[in-house]
Amino acid sequence: MAVNQPQKEEKKNRYQVKVLREKCIGAGTCVELAEKTFQLDEKNIAVIIDPHGNSDEEKLLAAQACPVGAIVVVDQETGEQIWPPE
Ligand code: SF4
Repeated sequence: MAVNQPQKEEKKNRYQVKVLREKCIGAGTCVELAEKTFQLDEKNIAVIIDPHGNSDEEKLLAAQACPVGAIVVVDQETGEQIWPPE
């Protein structure tokens, strides 16, 4: 019954994202794909405005779309790096 509900909610957002700012070239693709998580700062470099602003799927898509691989995605539950593949 309601027992599964909280688990589902938690699973929805277990990916932690990090921007490697020294790599970022300000292409803005991540912002387009997950604008509630990523924004560009005044230097045109991506910053995280809300680590859970978008769903895990959206954050992963944004990371995969980054042309310079500047977004790292880690599963906070297992500690496994999801993107880029190690
Ligand atoms: S997609 Fe990559 S290069 Fe473009 S703004 Fe985001 S982190 Fe920077």
